[in-house]
Amino acid sequence: MTEAQSESFPEIRESVRRLCAEFPGPYWQALDRERAYPTEFVQALTREGFLSVLIPEEYGGSGLGLGAATAILEEIHRSGCNGGACHAQMYTMGTILRHGSPEQKAKYLPAIAKGELRLQAFGVTEPTSGTDTTRLRTFARREGDHYVVNGQKVWISRAEHSDLMVLLCRTTAREDAAKPTDGMSVLIVEMNEAKGNGLTIRPIRTMLNHATTELFFDDMKVPVENLIGKEGQGFKYIIDGMNAERVLIAAECIGDGRFFIDRASAYARDRSVFGRAIGENQGVQFPIARAYVQVSAAALMVDKAAALFDAGLPCGSEANMSKMLASEASWFAADTCIQTHGGFGFAEEYDIERKFRETRLYQVAPISTNLILSHVGTHVLGMPKSF
Ligand SMILES: Cc1cc2nc3c(=O)[nH]c(=O)nc-3n(C[C@H](O)[C@H](O)[C@H](O)COP(=O)(O)OP(=O)(O)OC[C@H]3O[C@@H](n4cnc5c(N)ncnc54)[C@H](O)[C@@H]3O)c2cc1C
Repeated sequence: MTEAQSESFPEIRESVRRLCAEFPGPYWQALDRERAYPTEFVQALTREGFLSVLIPEEYGGSGLGLGAATAILEEIHRSGCNGGACHAQMYTMGTILRHGSPEQKAKYLPAIAKGELRLQAFGVTEPTSGTDTTRLRTFARREGDHYVVNGQKVWISRAEHSDLMVLLCRTTAREDAAKPTDGMSVLIVEMNEAKGNGLTIRPIRTMLNHATTELFFDDMKVPVENLIGKEGQGFKYIIDGMNAERVLIAAECIGDGRFFIDRASAYARDRSVFGRAIGENQGVQFPIARAYVQVSAAALMVDKAAALFDAGLPCGSEANMSKMLASEASWFAADTCIQTHGGFGFAEEYDIERKFRETRLYQVAPISTNLILSHVGTHVLGMPKSF
């Protein structure tokens, strides 16, 4: 069976490819130069319903599982596009779906499915706590029918292009909570009301075009009805959303890896130096074949993690392992692709240097490789924890 025949969700993949063909390299190159947001691309994905596949049909989505969502993001990335501008809408919505009240679901989910509301921002990371989420300091103090939020977040992507943000903050100080993971709560922040009323957003320019920002909260008011689930239980609510995030980002890495392998193998067949195709040289051919082997193996772990998630089974380890394997495989494929292209790999018009910069992110975010290894070492293999 060829790779194309063995693909899951072939019709969805074909429609995504058709849509992505409308957004070729020059579209992304122009945005990359300006560090501008791909509004038209996100609108097209929304219009076609690709960003609401995980929303159940009763709320206006297509009620598909994570497997379908991974196929969509993989194809976006294989086509040379970038789902980083909008992937959060898929997984962040799950926090409201799984833990929100009936009123919150009725208010937000149909509007998100229709594209009337964008839920692109997920606020967890802080400058002083880093990966140690239990030490986050942004604090929501209850005052009557509002929470008053003070603190700071960093690396909060798409905050300027989102109507809603799912925000993790403390409602009980770490030292007063029974466990470090207790005392955190999740709030839905309506961005248009908050901006200028206690919320300041400052863009951070980075090596890739990712619309990421710093957020400052200065007595920002959030109505109590925007609390998701029970006060103090927020950490647990965001964990299953994080598993979905890791699997979806792993799928983007698989798409990146396939993009690099497609480009590298085509170039190796066509480029002639010393009177023969460079791909005839095993020094050129073997790294591309190795990249293919690694991406194919990582894709199996992505499929496994998505299937466990969709079956409602524990998938924390598989989600983490899929993200690590896929991000390392895509990075190796990226490096191989540049090397195969020689000098042309560095030229903007080939899109390879842009994708090279984009795929590097995923060994750091949303969780860095060391933290995944620590999870496997301690939770799976029972070795002592270093922190
Ligand atoms: C472009 C971009 C977009 C992002 N978007 C978002 C977003 O939308 N929302 C959000 O909440 N966050 C976002 N992030 C944050 C991202 O999730 C974090 O950067 C990532 O989890 C790593 O955390 P940190 O940067 O605080 O690194 P740190 O926690 O400071 O770690 C630094 C390095 O030390 C290593 N390290 C730390 N502790 C240990 C240990 N005990 N053992 C071994 N190694 C260790 C880490 O692996 C890492 O390599 C984004 C980041 C970037 C760069």
